[in-house]
Amino acid sequence: MTANLLDFDLEGLAAFCEQLGEKRFRAVQLFRWIHQKGASRFDEMSDLAKSLREKLPSVCTITGLPVLTRQDSADGTIKWLFDVGGGNAVETVFIPEDDRGTLCVSSQAGCAVGCRFCSTGHQGFSRNLTTGEILAQLWHAEHFLRAHLKTSERVITNVVMMGMGEPLQNYGALVPALRVMLDDHGYGLSRRRVTVSTSGVVPMIDRLAQDCPVALAVSLHAPNDALRDNLVPINRKYPIAELLDACLRYLPAAPRDFITFEYCMLDGVNDQPEHARQLLDLVKRHAGRGVPCKFNLIPFNPFPDSGLRCSSRATVLAFGKILSDAGVVTTVRKTRGDDIDAACGQLAGDVVDRTQAARRMAQARTVRFVPPVKENQA
Ligand code: SAH
Ligand code: SF4
Repeated sequence: MTANLLDFDLEGLAAFCEQLGEKRFRAVQLFRWIHQKGASRFDEMSDLAKSLREKLPSVCTITGLPVLTRQDSADGTIKWLFDVGGGNAVETVFIPEDDRGTLCVSSQAGCAVGCRFCSTGHQGFSRNLTTGEILAQLWHAEHFLRAHLKTSERVITNVVMMGMGEPLQNYGALVPALRVMLDDHGYGLSRRRVTVSTSGVVPMIDRLAQDCPVALAVSLHAPNDALRDNLVPINRKYPIAELLDACLRYLPAAPRDFITFEYCMLDGVNDQPEHARQLLDLVKRHAGRGVPCKFNLIPFNPFPDSGLRCSSRATVLAFGKILSDAGVVTTVRKTRGDDIDAACGQLAGDVVDRTQAARRMAQARTVRFVPPVKENQA
């Protein structure tokens, strides 16, 4: 079987080169061609020995993901739907801002966690993406954007693993992909600008601290176990106290001195002043010392059959005020790419064919993920 070089971090590529009887520095050259220059063919790699250029096509490829659709919003947000085969597709969203460009990347086709307010969760789990499929989203977006914006400079400065899927339930593929994002010979992103968002897979939070500590966002969504059990079912396995303990263990390794808590605002469910006060109690008193954190309030993006509604603007602001008055930095996510439904995961389940994908995109009217306003700022 021929290898796809997008599946390798630099170590993996060096091992692959060694198998071919090539020196390690060849791996660095190849890696730079692929990730820094966006090469997909070996014959364009002018500084590789000709013999190697001729040998490579018989043993490996550089294979991205087919683009099913691309949609451009009036505000500059761009959304891709990538075909991952077997009738599945995943979404990737680019969100430009004045001082940075953020790419929201998917880690799985579907998701097994099954959060009540999440359309990806409602679709169920199809499969894990490979390292190459995670990276193909960044590889394609970065090099498309450079060509599109006619620049040779880096366009994507931040990556958030907030698309479809639970990244920490695809740990084996995630970590090499993160390493390529961070590698100076790859995308050269700083650890502070790569964020893994998790619903709370406690043992994997600990492993991430060891293997590849990047910025951590935790999807909290409820201030007590009874409510969180209901909204984020993985809470039954890893309840809030264990999750907060894991956050505290993560912090010494983390590139930032706080955890971002995401909190989806659901009308009448988790948005009352009492809930905000319970949250404060948790994050200020947990383990006797509290958890250094910021809150990111996400207005719920409704989708059919969720049975849930978004809190009113006034409720979101009042909730945020209780947190920030108590000294907890709180932001509210603002909506971007509304006109193209730039919602990670909203449309990407069980796409049967291209026509259907296009039809579903055209019909979709809801947004389930909107990019952060202020978080992730380095
Ligand atoms: N599985 C990971 C990352 C992907 S979801 C996680 O859950 O953290 C990225 C963020 O979008 C999470 O905070 C998630 O709770 C939020 N989200 C999911 N569905 C949403 C919806 N319908 N409206 C608003 N935010 C939603
Ligand atoms: Fe999965 Fe995250 Fe959606 Fe929950 S919110 S179902 S963990 S993608």
